[in-house]
Amino acid sequence: MRIRRSLIDLDDLTPRELAYVFERTEQFEAAPPGALLDGFGCVNMFFEESTRTFTSFNLAELRLGAAVVNLAPRDLSLATKGETLEDTALTLGALGVSIIVVRHHEPGFPQRVALAFDGHVVNAGDGVHAHPTQALLDIYTLLEEFGELKGRSVGIVGDVLHSRVAHSTIRGLQRLGAAVVLIGPECFLPHDYADEGITIERDFDGVLPQLDAIVLLRIQRERFVEMPITDEEYVSGYRLDERRLAQLRSEAIVMHPGPYNRGMELDDSVLEFAGWRYLKQVHHGVGIRMAVLDFLVNGRR
Ligand code: ASP
Repeated sequence: MRIRRSLIDLDDLTPRELAYVFERTEQFEAAPPGALLDGFGCVNMFFEESTRTFTSFNLAELRLGAAVVNLAPRDLSLATKGETLEDTALTLGALGVSIIVVRHHEPGFPQRVALAFDGHVVNAGDGVHAHPTQALLDIYTLLEEFGELKGRSVGIVGDVLHSRVAHSTIRGLQRLGAAVVLIGPECFLPHDYADEGITIERDFDGVLPQLDAIVLLRIQRERFVEMPITDEEYVSGYRLDERRLAQLRSEAIVMHPGPYNRGMELDDSVLEFAGWRYLKQVHHGVGIRMAVLDFLVNGRR
């Protein structure tokens, strides 16, 4: 079987390829690129809920002219008729499908698809493991703001432990030379993150004036049984609100991968803050995903 390019995590892209994906994103956002995926069958398999990622992959595929099929878990024989993942992958390949975009609660699931499938696989989020296209659009948003990330300080706040976005974004930020500061209570941010040059900070208030950007995270309640601290404790230590916004540098920006929970990691004042970049991130989701799909299928031009 030919080995085809897939994107399971950011490490699948070399620095040059990363730069190329960002370059293409800019071009594709400036002018629709046309049917670069004309004739390619694309299946989106989302075993977990998704609004932004699912919609933006669909739009990206349609804008590139792909033939798009959305397979919900209930439509898959894999889920209900005992077909193995490997046999599902073979079947989709025989149907002429070239690209599978997959989200699953099990870490490593997209990798298994990639091993069994004679085509391209894009990880749209696998459990707590990785979410490379979200990391790409987050980093693209930061680059658009600051030009380059060397020397910039980016704080990631909250439930880092269960956040696949944080895991992918941290790697990307480090590769681009940003200083990563992880901020949160012990239960969501164990000490092992201190390896590899990452700063761990429990005191959000103390670190606020040093940050160029803040990435807020949702508490991933679906990934654990009992909330390890009370909501009140979390809010008092880590919610971004008007008082904390006032401590930020004047040019600092605030981001969130979405969905955000008002009242928990942020309050409404953040949504009116001049440096709130959430909608920009969402917007870049389509361009980034077009660029990724085009790169995986067509390579560098
Ligand atoms: N939408 C992101 C994800 O799928 C972040 C989140 O759900 O909190 O991981």
